[in-house]
Amino acid sequence: MSDNSTEQSCPSGHSCSSCGGKCSDEKRRLHENLLGVKHILLVMSGKGGVGKSTVATNLAMSLALQGFATGLLDVDLHGPSVPKMLGIEGSQLMTDGEKLLPVETANLKVMSIGLSLSSPDQAVIWRGPVKYSVIQQFLADVAWGELDYLVIDAPPGTGDEPLSVCQLLPQADGAVVVTTPQQLAATDVSKSLSFLKQVNYRVIGIIENMSGFACPHCGEVTQIFSQGAGEDLAAKYGVPFLGRIPIDPQVCAAGDSGKPFVYSFGKSATAKAFAQIVDAIVNRG
Ligand code: ADP
Repeated sequence: MSDNSTEQSCPSGHSCSSCGGKCSDEKRRLHENLLGVKHILLVMSGKGGVGKSTVATNLAMSLALQGFATGLLDVDLHGPSVPKMLGIEGSQLMTDGEKLLPVETANLKVMSIGLSLSSPDQAVIWRGPVKYSVIQQFLADVAWGELDYLVIDAPPGTGDEPLSVCQLLPQADGAVVVTTPQQLAATDVSKSLSFLKQVNYRVIGIIENMSGFACPHCGEVTQIFSQGAGEDLAAKYGVPFLGRIPIDPQVCAAGDSGKPFVYSFGKSATAKAFAQIVDAIVNRG
């Protein structure tokens, strides 16, 4: 045994790029717990309000609707909005005696700190090390089981939560970065891209949300802001551009009503935009 008694050979047999095959007990537990998860996607943005949680939730739901076994982990610890968007606020968290069970809704397995708060108004006041350990528990102690995709919704910015995910999940497929078309948002989002570069995390691609306005009557998309910031960022950083999602009043109404948009309006042009982005992610080279 080494000097550090928590270090053991990784029994999963995986080569663990973060520890070179030597895992602490916690990392080993996390690794074993996620052995059945084929793909992990981190969704992040440089700025709040660009629709990152909306995109993460609808991406996860689109994947589930396409028949992929999908999980959605909300690591926005201070502002968890996934339970509200999925209409599962107040769900009772259960265990199987050993692990915490994700809440299942419409074929999607979901975990969020919001599910354990006594009321939606309750504030979470934690510093970095606590956040790291909570995220570690979400990954190691939730019964995710066999999944094709685990989508992780991180809070805006480049703080403790996305950093913890990057450190805990070096084996993930990478990050999807959400921006809006305006240059101001793109400037903040470029910070996310340089963060990902610094922590050596793969960028799956950029999504431009709120890109034009989809008419609720005819579905035609009108450009109401400048366009192209997402595509420009993708070109600048040499990463894929995954597609655009328009502002669609039904997206907002669906989020507020707790029924994800792609679930309720699967045939709309905006839902097709989500589906095309999912295809771009699933079929990427
Ligand atoms: P973030 O996670 O980036 O802070 P949210 O996903 O919470 O942002 O979205 C902020 C608000 O914008 C929500 O009310 C949401 O319903 C709305 N929204 C997000 N994307 C769209 C869209 N494409 N069309 C209309 N409303 C949207």
